[in-house]
Amino acid sequence: MTDQSSKGLSTKEYLTQKGGWLGLVIAVLYWFVESAFDSALFHEGVFWERFFSPDPNEAWMRLLIVTLFIFIGVYIETTAREKTLEKQKRQVESSFGEILEIAADAIIMIDAAHRITLFNRGAEAIFGYDAVEVMGRPLTLLMPEPFRKGHAAHIQSFGEGLSSARLIGDRVCPIFGRRKNGEEFPAEASISKLDRNGETVYTSILRDVSERQKADKTIRKLAFYDSVTGLINRNRFNEILRETLKRGAEEDKSIALLLLDLDRFKEVNDTLGHPRGDILLREVGLRLKALLRPSDAVARLGGDEFALLLPLAEEEHARFVAAKIMAAMGKPFKLDGFPISLETSLGIALFPGHGTQAGTLLQHADVAMYEAKRRGCCFLIYAPEEDHHSRRQLALMGSLRDAIEDDQLRLHFQPKIHLSTGKLVGVEALVRWEHPEEGMIPPDQFILPAEQTGLIRPLTEWVLREALLLCDRLSQIGISINIAVNLSARNLHDPNLPNLVLSALGNCHVPPSFLELELTESAIMTDEEGAQSVLEKLRGIGVRIAIDDFGVGYSSLVYLKKLAVDVLKIDKSFVKNMSSNEDDAIIVRSTIDLAHNLGLKVIAEGVENKETWDQLAALGCDTAQGYYVSRPLPEAKLIKWLKEEAPQRGWSL
Ligand code: C2E
Ligand code: CA
Repeated sequence: MTDQSSKGLSTKEYLTQKGGWLGLVIAVLYWFVESAFDSALFHEGVFWERFFSPDPNEAWMRLLIVTLFIFIGVYIETTAREKTLEKQKRQVESSFGEILEIAADAIIMIDAAHRITLFNRGAEAIFGYDAVEVMGRPLTLLMPEPFRKGHAAHIQSFGEGLSSARLIGDRVCPIFGRRKNGEEFPAEASISKLDRNGETVYTSILRDVSERQKADKTIRKLAFYDSVTGLINRNRFNEILRETLKRGAEEDKSIALLLLDLDRFKEVNDTLGHPRGDILLREVGLRLKALLRPSDAVARLGGDEFALLLPLAEEEHARFVAAKIMAAMGKPFKLDGFPISLETSLGIALFPGHGTQAGTLLQHADVAMYEAKRRGCCFLIYAPEEDHHSRRQLALMGSLRDAIEDDQLRLHFQPKIHLSTGKLVGVEALVRWEHPEEGMIPPDQFILPAEQTGLIRPLTEWVLREALLLCDRLSQIGISINIAVNLSARNLHDPNLPNLVLSALGNCHVPPSFLELELTESAIMTDEEGAQSVLEKLRGIGVRIAIDDFGVGYSSLVYLKKLAVDVLKIDKSFVKNMSSNEDDAIIVRSTIDLAHNLGLKVIAEGVENKETWDQLAALGCDTAQGYYVSRPLPEAKLIKWLKEEAPQRGWSL
């Protein structure tokens, strides 16, 4: 390395680095040549004698000359080094000048009296002044008016900063600057204190961060706002909710959380298209915003779900706002000049009564909203006793696993009759829980919590096995019937479901075509693709699929065409009153027609009287199920009904 670098050195560089050594080598050489010359010329002894013991006078002379050589070498080395250093310094200074000029940041130097002494091109670009305009002028020229209204907290003038240690040092501090046109802008600056020949000067490197802040704002907007409605989104709402609850707890105030859901909005999307659906959502957002105070927050949580937060709201005020919202939402929306009516369900949870944590309140408002939707009423305040998460429910869930194993579940069976032939089509298995203390518990009270706790899987396994075993037993006494079993959404999203069905079928002698699985629309809609593949596998096994409670969910009939579905059950809420309610009758009729056009069989559930039966028969509905035919019956009663009552009423097996 050393050799190579010394080879590459110019003479000047060599002298700069090795001048002293060169002098010494020349001096030794001189001594050597002088001794050789003397010994040869005067023949006075041999070379080494002349070299080591010359004539004393000559020796002094030689020593002097040698010393001179060394001095000359050292002198050359030192002066050359000084020159190089000076050149380097000049180079550095000129580069610094260049760096100063090309830097995008503002580099500003001021003297002890805060007058500007250096203003680079970056500073010119940022502040809009030419350097000549600012040189020697006070730094306040570049500062916003101090303590201007609203800025007081942010303004850190250079002057203040310079005299306070806070701004001096490596730390980058946020400050505000002012451009020549008067515009104030956010910046980040670091300031160093220098000592120049005993005089204190300050240098500041300042960066204009207004563009970056704008970009941050855009990112924040994307992260916290809903692009369709312009309302805040779930993330931001959760933040605000947590902050508001914290303040509410500190100040001992009531807060109301309202959750709002547009019923059947998916139908609007499916029939009118997403762009129109979006317009409608925007309109909903505008109506909600118009009703609220500035301190209230309104968000779109996703899909057709909106949330409102009313700080400082007691129950009475929450009810008042909810009623106002329902009235506003009840008025038709105009889309392309056509009126569109939307139904809304709203649930309310109050802080601190219904929960003190954001998650609990949201969950409870959600429970109230779903209950409102289920009951078809417009809004409800959370009622712990109706909550599936309530203590009783939790206690029930704790014992459901044991109940399955200890044989506390019971199946009741409800017959279905073919409307035109009067032939028995099959029975639907409906589960109940014969609780040792609570008595008979209806499925509505434990199916949903079982779904939430994952117990639905062993429960469904039990129902499937028992239902198929009943078929087996009935066929042994000469009664051959189809059996329908209800599945929940959770079951449908269990990829192991087809295996579960296969093993239940393997446990008895019932052909797969005798088994029908009833699924609600919403179960399919929550994960269309996953559901579709499971449905296809089930159909591959040979079982039939029925869509349960049709009409209360979101799916359009056209969509169902794509699915592997055989039967459609019109929800009892439409069937029950169709003999007295024109609208319901229209819905039932068009559903039957459309379903038939799609090649599906139609069952009407909730047939409670003869008028409805006759009406359905006239409309060409395939099958009827309901209290008019029979209530769900335990096995023994079902056998009796099949053998005695059904034939009496003209129905055959
Ligand atoms: P679903 O599948 O819609 O069952 C029909 C419900 O309507 C049954 O209530 C039945 O007793 C009732 N019903 C039958 N005919 C009439 C009528 O003419 N009028 C009226 N008003 N109601 C009638 P149930 O047995 O209480 O079942 C409620 C729900 O529980 C079922 O609704 C079903 O979604 C669920 N369910 C029942 N058994 C099971 C099960 O084994 N697994 C699953 N996942 N869900 C089940
Ligand atoms: Ca059903």
